[in-house]
Amino acid sequence: MNIELEDAECEGYTDFRISESIDSEGIVSEISPDIAICEDCIKDLKLQPHRLSYPFINCTNCGPRFSIVKDFPYDRANTTMDIFPMCPNCELEYNDIYDRRFHAQPVACNHCGPRYSLYYSGKSVENIDEILNLLTGLLEAGKIISIKGLGGFHIMCDAANERTVKRLRDSKQREGKPFAVMFSGIEAIQKVSNISKAELRSLLSWRRPITLLKAPKNNLAESVCLGFDTIGAFLPYMPIHYMMFEKMKLDALVLTSGNISEEPIITHNKDALKILEPICDAVLTYNREIYNRTDDSVIKVINNTERVFRRSRGYAPNPVYLKYHIEGIFAAGAELVNCFCIGKGKQAILSQHIGDLKNYETYHFYKQAFHTFEKVFRFKPQWVVTDLHPDYLSTRFGEELSKETIKVQHHHAHIASCMAENHLDEPVIGLSFDGTGLGDDNTIWGSEFFVADLSSYQRVSHFGYIELPGGDKATYEPWRIAVSYLYKVFGEDFMDMELDFMKDIPDYQIRLILTAIDKKINCPVSCSAGRLFDAVAALINVCTFSKFHAEAPMRLESFATKEIKGYYDFDVSKSISFKPMIQQIVNDMLKMEKKEVISTKFHNTVAQAIFEETNRIRSLAGIKKVALSGGTFQNCYLAERLENMFLKNGYEVFTQKSIPCNDGGIALGQLAIAAKRLNNG
Ligand code: ZN
Ligand code: ZN
Ligand code: FE
Repeated sequence: MNIELEDAECEGYTDFRISESIDSEGIVSEISPDIAICEDCIKDLKLQPHRLSYPFINCTNCGPRFSIVKDFPYDRANTTMDIFPMCPNCELEYNDIYDRRFHAQPVACNHCGPRYSLYYSGKSVENIDEILNLLTGLLEAGKIISIKGLGGFHIMCDAANERTVKRLRDSKQREGKPFAVMFSGIEAIQKVSNISKAELRSLLSWRRPITLLKAPKNNLAESVCLGFDTIGAFLPYMPIHYMMFEKMKLDALVLTSGNISEEPIITHNKDALKILEPICDAVLTYNREIYNRTDDSVIKVINNTERVFRRSRGYAPNPVYLKYHIEGIFAAGAELVNCFCIGKGKQAILSQHIGDLKNYETYHFYKQAFHTFEKVFRFKPQWVVTDLHPDYLSTRFGEELSKETIKVQHHHAHIASCMAENHLDEPVIGLSFDGTGLGDDNTIWGSEFFVADLSSYQRVSHFGYIELPGGDKATYEPWRIAVSYLYKVFGEDFMDMELDFMKDIPDYQIRLILTAIDKKINCPVSCSAGRLFDAVAALINVCTFSKFHAEAPMRLESFATKEIKGYYDFDVSKSISFKPMIQQIVNDMLKMEKKEVISTKFHNTVAQAIFEETNRIRSLAGIKKVALSGGTFQNCYLAERLENMFLKNGYEVFTQKSIPCNDGGIALGQLAIAAKRLNNG
């Protein structure tokens, strides 16, 4: 691109100036997400006399934004930079229209800006060169360090040192979830994964998301990935990250969220010193406040396009532009991976990833974030929309805000989220597959074939129902669902089969479950796709107890491979029954068939069943637009296969890309449905 500059006379105005922002209600310009440090600023770290090794360097093209905003409009005085008066040097740059730092609100330098402090063995170190020497030395020596990031604290350590990573895992009480790894650069990532062009684009983007990559063979410590063949990789995005790697021999650091177990990441220095210091060897803080907590965002490339799984730093609060008015609508979201959404004009603004509201601290974060959005976006909730589920804390919060709330069925919200993201407002075939969502018949849904538009839906088909012995407990103990399927298919005969996974479960426990099913004691029924994946993961003995959300389907997916063909049988009558498949899987297990074969054929069966049923609906309804949403489509193997089957057969396929297909995207769908219903009176 070529840009030419020429002088011109001022027309219609007598002069040019940038005035103080005026606060007027209703007019809210966008607030930018945080931006990774730019190339020019990296160079300036070594060139600009007042910013030599200044770890908070930024410009109009990079630096913190959303994480430091306290109020609207986005001026320095309304950010957590308000306590740092600019020095004359910075002020000159700030006011110079030809300078890259012209009106860069967080502009700062060695003389006037925020500073790091390293707390180590009872001392605090303030000099940046000393900090870097100490920090990198400690990391190389296998120490664990807590470091304040853009949106919250991280805990980091050498990703190749098994003893250290294991120690970190134990102290974080995080048993089974893989850790994210920050690499020094693309070359370091290429040592562990064959990355595609699309993956490279995401890794290098200014949003700097954690990108899930295939890395079956890598030289990292075993406790990083815990047997998974994927790795969450990302590149440096703060000046300090670059400065550390430049000084160090290490080229890969575990960089995991600074929290204990499932609590929100820590943002305050005093909490970090209280909670993280005891489990770390040193804590690195800085004296600028993080006002809006953001986690690292997580994406995966599926069919050559980026799909956002966790939408936070770098993405929030970018709005989704809709074609209709949504001012004043508050959508409370779901429960497990909650995000909420507010309507401003025609902009749907999704909150950053909040998390599992059942956690007390997370629910507090939810309420806090909502009040910040009220203030920063000048938002007044006039209509409140929630999930059908009466016990979701988001539903209760919505009901506290408004006596009359609009209720939206969970899977309809998933499909509407996909429609809103893709600007659809006409009937589609909606395929919504996930773990759990309350249906309008009070059973647990999760494998929904809808003919839907934004105002209503018709449930045309679903998978067969299965008892979940123990209710919620079954989610963490997939073996219970496997037993439930076996009982349905074989009766008590399965007790005599020599299935590997049953060897670890005492007979009496299995008997208890059969009694519970017979007597219908705490055995809700569900048609959830997620639970079917759980059952098969347990059946082939890759996950009988799940240590974190969706572990079983993830383990199962890691055995699926494109090289294996074929699928199992299934029945279609009123619903889709996978009984024949369960029978064949058991036969394969008894024949000691490879897990890769069983897992792949299972995935192919699910894809084939969905495809055939959708074809039937297409011929009945005459619709060839198909919208896919729900957490199950985070399964890359299934999503790719199914999308391609549809594309090859003349469907118009719509999927979620910039908005999560999991429950983190629900709020957008709730909002779109509410807007439609309100417009329809
Ligand atoms: Zn910059
Ligand atoms: Zn300065
Ligand atoms: Fe869901």
